[in-house]
Amino acid sequence: MSNAAQPVWDHAESAPQRTALHGTAGQSWSYAALRDHASTVAARLRAAGIGAGERVLLIAPSVPEFVAAYYGVLSIGAIAVTANTMAPAPELEYIGTDAGISLVIGWHAVSPAPAVAAAAVGVPYWELQRELAGLTAEDLTAEGLATDEVTAVAPVPAPADADTDDTAAILYTSGTTGRPKGAMLTHGNLHACASIYQRIHRLGPDDRAGIALPLFHVYGQACILATTMRVGASLSLLPRFDPHEMLAVIRDRRLTTTAGVPTMWNALLHAAGDADPADFASLRLASSGGASLPGEIKRAFEERFGCTILEGYGLTETTGSATVQVAGRPVAVGSVGAPIPDCEIAVRSLDGAELAPGEIGEVHVRGPVVMKGYWGRPEATAEVLHDGWLATGDLGRIDDAGELHIVDRKKELVIRGGYNVYPREVEEVLYEHPDVVEAAVIGVPDAHYGEEVAAAIALRPGASPDAAALRAWAKERLSAYKVPHLVAFVDTLPKGATGKILKRAIDRSLFESST
Ligand code: ATP
Repeated sequence: MSNAAQPVWDHAESAPQRTALHGTAGQSWSYAALRDHASTVAARLRAAGIGAGERVLLIAPSVPEFVAAYYGVLSIGAIAVTANTMAPAPELEYIGTDAGISLVIGWHAVSPAPAVAAAAVGVPYWELQRELAGLTAEDLTAEGLATDEVTAVAPVPAPADADTDDTAAILYTSGTTGRPKGAMLTHGNLHACASIYQRIHRLGPDDRAGIALPLFHVYGQACILATTMRVGASLSLLPRFDPHEMLAVIRDRRLTTTAGVPTMWNALLHAAGDADPADFASLRLASSGGASLPGEIKRAFEERFGCTILEGYGLTETTGSATVQVAGRPVAVGSVGAPIPDCEIAVRSLDGAELAPGEIGEVHVRGPVVMKGYWGRPEATAEVLHDGWLATGDLGRIDDAGELHIVDRKKELVIRGGYNVYPREVEEVLYEHPDVVEAAVIGVPDAHYGEEVAAAIALRPGASPDAAALRAWAKERLSAYKVPHLVAFVDTLPKGATGKILKRAIDRSLFESST
């Protein structure tokens, strides 16, 4: 088994001038340039005494320089530890200590937290741009490395050998349940994810991908970056999501494929206004993940952009992917597709018994994308991994065609007066309302029912908030106990680093006076 950095070296050899990466600060790197930048990092790591198996915390936005550092680390057999760019210093210090890191590589324009955390952990801090370009502190600007020019370090001839089971990256979760945990993804996991994505999305070297997803997260890092590098396609990186900027990149770079979370499709739809459809004609495929894609958003996006959205389901612990819808195959409403090749899905009851099609239980996944475990957490690992099966914490059911339907997260289920309410089902109905742009349904404590169904809603500009009308809309389409009794209107819903709606950050006090 080869190192997960190998494809970059292979393309640099076979097609050195082919474009690998575009950044928004004018960077346009060929595969040879990317390999040389990664080699520069690798050589400097070696010179600093960092060797195979050592952990390097990499905190940078989605810029080509991140990719150079990432593959530089992997190429020497060291492990890239990635975490949210916006994490405050104490959280990074916790992660750095937990992972036993030897070095922090940061990006000057992000925040002072990585440097502060490095000092607190007692390890060196490297400024990425400076290491790559040999720049002095005074030369540093908010811009990236705008050229194909590389520093005078001789390219590393080939990445170090790696076994399938060697850890390549540790991705820290955001810690919804307790302290952040580091999911260990192996070189084998990254190869499996990339080869599966390549096959199911039929990607090739002529594809032009573009994303505004963070590379520290599994979706950007494994599903998109590893896959694009494997096939030798080009990847345009946007460090933050701005729908107008994304539309301009689709148009100017003639993107053939993109990936995102449901809130992005919605924002792109609204930003597209009456733009000429020819601007998006190059786009053939959008992949959606991270959260359930409301049917209404899928329909509207596909109609406006003339491009298929294929939804997938996965989590950090499955290298981002476990099921996916397949192009050309009809998709049942609410389905997130069939298991990806080489993977199995089972739905189990709380006592571990496998359930029949149609029955709702916890989704389990087995296959080459399942992580090795949580770094330094044998107990947490044993809680979720048994005989190669990963317990996902998601509730779902398998339909007669063998496709998975995610009903909701186990921890987000609302139990109202003994009845289970799946927020996702209620949100689907709210999204169908013409005035609703974003909707999140949560349970809030209630003296009588235990929990009450509450909806936080963002309306399209100009629409007037009318909770009674929204409730009436829901009542026509849902059983009475599922109708959101509490409705609050907000300008926008809180979102996490990938752009997913962050339900835990919704201000519960919004519902105190709403009925
Ligand atoms: P954290 O647990 O650290 O707060 P997170 O749960 O968002 O973050 P990720 O690994 O990024 O961690 O996300 C995985 C979760 O996202 C899945 O367990 C599932 O709940 C949800 N998810 C992903 N894809 C889909 C989808 N297509 N439909 C519904 N839910 C999805």
